[in-house]
Amino acid sequence: MTENIYDIAVIGGDGIGPEVVEAEIAVLEATGLAWNFSSYEAGDDCLASRGQALPQATLDGALAAQAVIFGAAGVSAADVILRLRAELGTFVNLRPSVAYKGVNCLHPQTDMMIVRENTECLYAGIEAQLTPEVVTATRVITSQASTRIVNYALEWARQAGGKKVTAVHKANVLRKTDGHFLQCCRAAARQFPDVPYEEALVDSVAMRMAMRPEEFQVIVTTNLFGDILSDLAAGLIGGLGMCPSANLGQAHALFEPVHGTAPDIAGQGKANPSAAILCGAMLLRHLGQEQWAARVEKAVADCVADGQATSDLGGKLRTMEMARAVIDRL
Ligand code: ATP
Ligand code: MG
Repeated sequence: MTENIYDIAVIGGDGIGPEVVEAEIAVLEATGLAWNFSSYEAGDDCLASRGQALPQATLDGALAAQAVIFGAAGVSAADVILRLRAELGTFVNLRPSVAYKGVNCLHPQTDMMIVRENTECLYAGIEAQLTPEVVTATRVITSQASTRIVNYALEWARQAGGKKVTAVHKANVLRKTDGHFLQCCRAAARQFPDVPYEEALVDSVAMRMAMRPEEFQVIVTTNLFGDILSDLAAGLIGGLGMCPSANLGQAHALFEPVHGTAPDIAGQGKANPSAAILCGAMLLRHLGQEQWAARVEKAVADCVADGQATSDLGGKLRTMEMARAVIDRL
């Protein structure tokens, strides 16, 4: 039997991106699965050296690979990551927020998944200057995008053992757009009678998340609300160091830590690799390697709980030392 070889495009990018991605790859290689990693350039440094933030070769490599591992991009982020998401057609942005033992945080009970629509809403990029004093932005909500995102969330919740899905909206004010989103959610939820489903207004969700985040398991929402609520969720669990994310589409997938380039600590071996390593776990799950995904997540959790961590978490380890500590626990 020929072994499955996973073809992965690697884009380290700028700042701490390459450092945390190196740690992530070390952990993935330690699984002993067969990997073929191909590295590509993108970001500010690439723009400076090659005149383009996202060269065609990088785009082609990302499109040809089974999945993409991404680090971070600096000021050129919009040209890099937004373009990559669009070209790869990744319509789901999946953001888990899990409070890990050993991380100082507001709400140690937090364990939620935010499923954010990744292609439309106010981020459709339709803005206009009507007069020198008046500007507008058009919010686009379609049946197609709404239905596929809520189906994704419901399916995810079902796979996760029947977790509760909360559809988050503002349909009392945004009657047409959010009204339509909500109708799509309801229609989809009827197809998943086994998955608990509820609806909630975004403003009340923001307050309840700050006070009682354990009330939420899976949140599905439109692009702008999802953007804001997922950063709120990151804040609940102690910030950026532990937050991975996945961008998923029909044919492609891209995994990136939620944090950025962290220029203040770049190049010093101080970056916490956990978010990137947890991206590796999401990649493993995406590839059907559920057991390895769970083992990587547990190894990270155990390291953090034992203080085998980088200085942002109060530990003494450097980036690659923490990666090795994770590997030792696999
Ligand atoms: P960018 O514009 O690329 O987002 P930024 O200056 O906003 O850069 P972030 O990466 O968003 O920086 O990080 C915000 C803060 O959190 C910085 O002080 C950074 O040092 C810290 N930080 C972010 N990621 C990590 C990490 N993986 N390990 C340790 N500290 C981090
Ligand atoms: Mg930032």
